Amino acid sequence: MVRRRTHRRKKRAAYASLGAAPAKKNGALVLLVLGALVVVNLYVFVWDKKTSVAAIKQKATAVPTMTLPATPLDSGSAQAAAAAPVAPPGAVEGKVGKSDTLGRLLKKSGLSAAETDEVIRALSGVLDFRTIRAGQSFRIDRGPDGRVKRFELELSKIQKVRAERQPSGELVGVADNTQTKLEIRALSGTIDSSLYAAIKKAGETAALVDFFVDVFAYDIDFFNDTHDGDTFRVVVERKMHDGQVMGYGRILAAEYKGKVGTFQTFLWNGKYYDATGASSEKGMLKTPLKFVRVTSGFDRNRMHPVLHTVRAHLGVDYAAPVGTPVWAAASGTVSFCGPSGGAGNLVMIRHQDGIETAYMHLSKFASIKVGQKIEAKTVIGYVGTTGLSTGPHLHFGVKKNGEFVDPTKLAPMRGKPVTPAELDAFRVEATKLESMMSGAIGLAESRVPRHA
Ligand SMILES: [Zn+2]
Repeated sequence: MVRRRTHRRKKRAAYASLGAAPAKKNGALVLLVLGALVVVNLYVFVWDKKTSVAAIKQKATAVPTMTLPATPLDSGSAQAAAAAPVAPPGAVEGKVGKSDTLGRLLKKSGLSAAETDEVIRALSGVLDFRTIRAGQSFRIDRGPDGRVKRFELELSKIQKVRAERQPSGELVGVADNTQTKLEIRALSGTIDSSLYAAIKKAGETAALVDFFVDVFAYDIDFFNDTHDGDTFRVVVERKMHDGQVMGYGRILAAEYKGKVGTFQTFLWNGKYYDATGASSEKGMLKTPLKFVRVTSGFDRNRMHPVLHTVRAHLGVDYAAPVGTPVWAAASGTVSFCGPSGGAGNLVMIRHQDGIETAYMHLSKFASIKVGQKIEAKTVIGYVGTTGLSTGPHLHFGVKKNGEFVDPTKLAPMRGKPVTPAELDAFRVEATKLESMMSGAIGLAESRVPRHA
């Protein structure tokens, strides 16, 4: 995942041509030259604290052309640069790879061993190296003299570290931590075109839709159950910096009111419950599809689920665009994952009480394995049209004791309610959150302080 803007390839070519023609005759000489280079690197590394610009410039030309051994380090270049430049000016940008350490990342990006070591030492006081993760962005800049001028690593949206070349020639590490505040916000809205539009209108970003939809996944099929005029309320934690939303924390309470019914849910000890303390987790999700913005060009009316009554093919068809994420409808163990004749790419999950769910015609699988235990709402694959299928859709089937049954007729199994010992405390909290939602404390524009 490293995008290069340097001329590393040119450098390689130079090495290659140097080795190619005279290699046979002067093989020994080349070995000698390479050996000398290693010695020089060690020498430079050892003497890295004594820096002179003259020495650096000398080496900037010396190293790539491999004439260094011909100009042995004299007293002047003994004050060698911390890290001899190995590439021309320019920038390298990329992302941290899966098993990258900082050292591996820097080497992959074209830094010499000495340069890598210099950057690591500059950052050793300001960076906890264990916080380096795949996907983080980095950037390396080389100055006009070819030396590493700046290395920057973005640990998160609000946390950066930098190693920066000072006028003195030293590379110094700096941590740049943006402070975020967690605030609680109550907001409400009315659906007039889509949930995305309504939440945007309330001044929030699309990311909140995902949170909101997940909270109600057991109650509402957001593809089909939402209508213009429906209303929603939510109390959510927001991570703020400089008046900007950096992200969302937890949804503390939410309400959806529409033709489909009125649903309220409150967070308590990491789980969601309705106002009476009953679990919001029912046996199966309302739909095994994760709600995503429907691609333009896909007829939303086609997304209505169709119940198949043909015995051999009992189940529900959800027409949906190719690539729509498919959720495990309940927690369980993956019992099948692979192509299966007319079913196309098929996933089957075994649940408790002799229930098994089947997901057919997938375009591709998520990274799941047979025998793996998964939670409800785990993405197991993506909608497709593989096998015997006339168009992109998910065929969702449910087996009870080995026989396909009508998924819509399964009795819901609820999660555990709030314990009797905690019920009073829960009710106090739920009442407080409900009054925040209904505007008694704050609605839409108002910001309310975080409670304990
Ligand atoms: Zn079907």
